[in-house]
Amino acid sequence: MNITICGAGNAAHTLIPLLASKGHAVTVYTALADEAVALREALSGGGEMTARFADGRVFKARPVRVTEDARDAASEADMVLLALPAFAHEAILRELAPHLPTNAWIVALPARGGFDWLVRAILPEHEGVVLGLQTLPWACRIQDWGRTVAVLGEKAVVDVAARPSEAGAEAARSLSELLGLPLQPLPNFLTLTLANTGQLIHPGIMYGLFRAWDGRPFGEDEVPLFYTDIDEETADILQAMSNEVQAVRAAIERARPELDLSRVATLHDWLLRAYADDIEDPSTLLSSFRTNRAYAGIRAPVELVEENAYAPWFASRYLAEDAPLGLVVTRGLADLVGARTPAIDMVILWAQEKLGKEYVRDGKLEGRDIRETRAPQRFGIHGIDDEMIDGG
Ligand code: NAD
Repeated sequence: MNITICGAGNAAHTLIPLLASKGHAVTVYTALADEAVALREALSGGGEMTARFADGRVFKARPVRVTEDARDAASEADMVLLALPAFAHEAILRELAPHLPTNAWIVALPARGGFDWLVRAILPEHEGVVLGLQTLPWACRIQDWGRTVAVLGEKAVVDVAARPSEAGAEAARSLSELLGLPLQPLPNFLTLTLANTGQLIHPGIMYGLFRAWDGRPFGEDEVPLFYTDIDEETADILQAMSNEVQAVRAAIERARPELDLSRVATLHDWLLRAYADDIEDPSTLLSSFRTNRAYAGIRAPVELVEENAYAPWFASRYLAEDAPLGLVVTRGLADLVGARTPAIDMVILWAQEKLGKEYVRDGKLEGRDIRETRAPQRFGIHGIDDEMIDGG
C-alpha cells in the first residue's frame, strides 16, 4: 500500500519504521517545512528509522519519500494516517484535500471529538473509509530525532470508530493487522466523541489543581502530581462532568432509540476497565485516581519561568486540545438535546480564559473562537438526525 503518514513527532517516528518494514511504501508529510528538511537530512546516505519496543521487538526501515508538498503526499495515497495533535487535523486535511483520491482511507490516531464531521466538512465527496482511534496505541518518545524512537508501552486494546459504521468491523480488522495490535470496533463515531475520557480528565484536573493558583511559581519538587494529587473536590467535579456526559447520552438515546451508545462508559467504569491491574483501591473515583500505579509520578504540565521556578502550562494540550476538540463538542451535543451541563460549562469557562479564547459567551456556544472547535453547530448540525450520526 501507499501509506502517507502526516506528522514527524513521536507517533510518526513509531509508525514510519513499523509500516515501512512490512513492505508498504511510506510517504511522510509534514507541513512544517523545517521538519521535512531535517528528516531528509537525518535519512540522507541511506539512513533508516528504528522503533524499539519495550518487549524487545525492533522495526527498522526508511520511508520512500519525505515531503512538505501536499500533492506529492496525497495524490497516490491508499491510506492517510494523521499522527498529529488534533488541533492540526483541520489544517492538514485542508492541504491534502484537493489531491486526495476519493477512496483513500483516512485514519486519525487519536481522533478526539467530532472528527467525522470535520472530514465531511472538508471532503464532502469523500468515499473512502474514515477511522478514528480513541487513543494512540503507544506511549512513545523520540530518542534520536529522525532516527530512533522508544516505544515504552502498548495498549492492550484500542477502541476504533469507522464511517460508514457498517464498514467498522472489517476496517478495524485490516487496520489491526497493519498496526499489529488489537482494535475493538465501536458502533459509531458518536460513541468515540462522547466516550473521549481525556476531555473530562485533562481539563477537569487542570481546573481542580490550578483554579486557586495564587501566581507563585512552584519549585521543581513542588509541581503537583497530575493524577494522584487530586483532592475530593476535584473528584466530585470529574464525577459531575461524567454524569453530564451520561445525561447527554441518555437524551440522545431517547431521541434516537436505535442508536447504540452503550459503549459510552462512566469515567469510573472506564478507569476500572483501562487500568484493571493497576488500581489498588477501586472503591471510588477519587481512590481509583490516587491509587493507580500507571499514573504514579506523572506531574502536572508546567513551564519553566525562571531557574527552578515553574508555572502551570495553560497552553498545553490538556487545555488547548481537550477543551475545543473535546469538552466543547460535548457541550454542543448537550445543546442539541436540551441537556444542562453546569460542571462542564464551569470548566470550559475557566479553560477558555486561561487559553485566551472564547467558545461560550453568555451561556451559549457563540464565542468568537467557536470555529476552532468541533462543536456540531460549527458544521451546521442542529439536530440528532442521520446526517449528524453518520458523519454530517
Ligand atoms: P508530537 O508533538 O511528538 O508530534 C506532533 C507532530 O505533529 C509534529 O512533529 C508536527 O509534525 C505535527 N504538528 C504539530 N503541530 C502542528 C501544526 N500546528 N500544524 C501542522 N503540523 C503540526 O506528538 P505525538 O507524541 O506524536 O502525539 C500525536 C498525538 O498522539 C497527540 O494527539 C498526542 O496527544 C497523542 N498521544 C501521544 C502519546 C505519546 O506517547 N507520544 C500518547 C498518547 C497520546
